Amino acid sequence: MMVAMSPTASRDLLLGDLDEEQREAVLAPRGPVCVLAGAGTGKTRTITRRIAYLVTAGHVAPSQVLAVTFTQRAAGEMRARLRALDDGTGTGAVQAQTFHAAARRQLSYFWPRVVGNTDWQLMDSKFAVVAQAANRAGLPTGTDDVRDLAGEIEWAKASLISPEGYAAAVADVGRDIPFDAAKVATVYDNYEALKTRREGVALLDFDDLLLHTAAAIENDPAVAQEFRDRYRCFVVDEYQDVTPLQQRVLDAWLGGRDDLTVVGDANQTIYSFTGASPRYLLDFSRRFPEAAVVRLERDYRSTPQVVSLANRVIAAARGRMAGSKLHLVGQRPPGPNPVFKEYPDEVAEATAVAKSIKKLIDSGTAASEIAVLYRINAQSEVYEEALTEAGVAFQVRGGEGFFSRQEIRQALLAMQRTAERQPDLDGPLPEIVRAILEPLGLTAEPPAGTRARDRWEALVALAQLVDDEVAQRPGLDLRALLAELRQRADSRHPPVVQGVTLASLHAAKGLEWDAVFLVGLADGTLPISHALSHGPDSEPVEEERRLLYVGVTRARVHLTLSWALARNPGGRQGRRPSRFLNGIAPQSQRDDGPSKPRRARGPAPRCRICNAQLTTPPAIMLRRCETCPSDIDDELLAELKEWRLRISKEMSVPAYVVFSDNTLIAIAESLPTDDAALVAIPGIGARKLEQFGADVLALVKGRQKS
Ligand code: ATP
Ligand code: MG
Repeated sequence: MMVAMSPTASRDLLLGDLDEEQREAVLAPRGPVCVLAGAGTGKTRTITRRIAYLVTAGHVAPSQVLAVTFTQRAAGEMRARLRALDDGTGTGAVQAQTFHAAARRQLSYFWPRVVGNTDWQLMDSKFAVVAQAANRAGLPTGTDDVRDLAGEIEWAKASLISPEGYAAAVADVGRDIPFDAAKVATVYDNYEALKTRREGVALLDFDDLLLHTAAAIENDPAVAQEFRDRYRCFVVDEYQDVTPLQQRVLDAWLGGRDDLTVVGDANQTIYSFTGASPRYLLDFSRRFPEAAVVRLERDYRSTPQVVSLANRVIAAARGRMAGSKLHLVGQRPPGPNPVFKEYPDEVAEATAVAKSIKKLIDSGTAASEIAVLYRINAQSEVYEEALTEAGVAFQVRGGEGFFSRQEIRQALLAMQRTAERQPDLDGPLPEIVRAILEPLGLTAEPPAGTRARDRWEALVALAQLVDDEVAQRPGLDLRALLAELRQRADSRHPPVVQGVTLASLHAAKGLEWDAVFLVGLADGTLPISHALSHGPDSEPVEEERRLLYVGVTRARVHLTLSWALARNPGGRQGRRPSRFLNGIAPQSQRDDGPSKPRRARGPAPRCRICNAQLTTPPAIMLRRCETCPSDIDDELLAELKEWRLRISKEMSVPAYVVFSDNTLIAIAESLPTDDAALVAIPGIGARKLEQFGADVLALVKGRQKS
């Protein structure tokens, strides 16, 4: 049974284990309060205590408080903490929800009054409608294309940008987009039209829930009145992640009132690409000049050593958010210094990390208290492999394991089909595999669009895995290679609760572990190259810096930062450590580590133009650096493609089985005049020479005569 405590007792319970500033935020009178708090300073603790305090002291009824945040997980965490603080006063009954859940609930209630007879239906997925909209706009409707288009529609709606305003807005912020802006705008327009054209029922997507909720309150005074009688006190956690659309809903809720507490850290803004903006947090005291502004600087999560590194990483930040940075002061007892390590290649890096993890586990750290964090999901593969070999259980968070990824399963299937249909296929295996992967998305250049790029990275990783296998066992054929890859996939541990966490930096936000390994910190990976393409001082590069800051601040005690100079063993060591570590990492941290000889490769091929070693798969296929000038004969290439199409039809095989795009490019560039020159081109073996050599040489000769 719940026993109500005396007011003094519950006050002590709520305030006793808070520091002075946290207490100030909790005790601030009703009205606008802004807590600018760095990572690990107890933001969620403070915000839940404030709610409990206001309720316990009788300032507000539990049912009049609405606490919102952005993810289900964070909302659940808030509810759990509020329940734990309930000493009979009803704190546990406070609504703590995501913006979307709150809007959905309100809309269900108000809909009949504002709309009347038409029902509404929440779309589980907008995929089908976006695909239809893309088709009408004459755009491709492959899975990645549709997903990227859906991402653009979501960004625009979250940013309150209409189809008419899309092109200008994109140009304004220099956004990377998958297709021509006018085309995307047409798809967006078509999408909205398709949704409303259904009979008798309005289809709503998640953003519509928010739009309609705001509109219902804005446009109907009776609805506004009823809503405002019900909710009087608003609290927002992680306020730096608010989108303009969510802010509009929040404004509708407030309706000119100011009983609002927000908590945030502008330096942890890492979701700008979805439309989130810290400007509302940073402008809070301009909008509410009488607001109580509290800064928390004591970091209760990490050792002073980790905190000091976090301070140094963010000290170099530029731009507006940087103006809000706080110098964190570590509160925990001292621990080990963060470790910086450089490795010759990614395999050596992963092997060494797995070894360190094993050591930590052997000396008593729980596997569930260890994390490996990377920039993009495709980086997980080498770590899955290394941990498997070390016999350490793990789980991949916020993405599936490498071999469960859709494109990798598709790739293995395509390889299997080729192996079945053409058992006597010859030619270098890496080239055969690349030809199979090309139509699945392994293009020479990384594609535009986040999801398409993610998929491309995974295919590149698979192609490199194949190179490693072939280097190890030169006689391997496609069947044996597949068996090897399948065995690898099967030997991976199924997900376990108690394993080491593998996660991207984005997915690690808000979490904490005793030991954290930040891996792959090479320039071009963090900051990622497409951020760098906006310029070294650009906002996208600053967002990458904040990602590193988020990563560093996840560690309680042990922190290791590492990078590799080359992707593959034996590859050209052309990489440099992340620019964010300049002046932070000590000069020499080179650790050659126990690079596994079994994955060592032969010397990398060289560029036929500048003679540099070639390391990336597209470069190896082209036999030149991707940046070296192409000396291609375009008309010959067109003729070769026409010829290939005819032959593939005659043979009833897909075009890439005849020659891959990159093989044709290599022919049109190097203009072979005899058999020897032909077989020197990757992708052309003895069998292809016999089948197609005469045709190709004739085509080349024909061009040269003309
Ligand atoms: P992030 O920015 O990463 O989301 P946060 O500011 O939300 O972090 P919390 O997760 O609330 O921080 O707190 C970090 C850790 O510090 C938690 O383990 C929490 O219990 C602890 N903590 C917070 N305040 C105090 C305090 N006054 N005394 C002791 N421990 C505290
Ligand atoms: Mg938090």
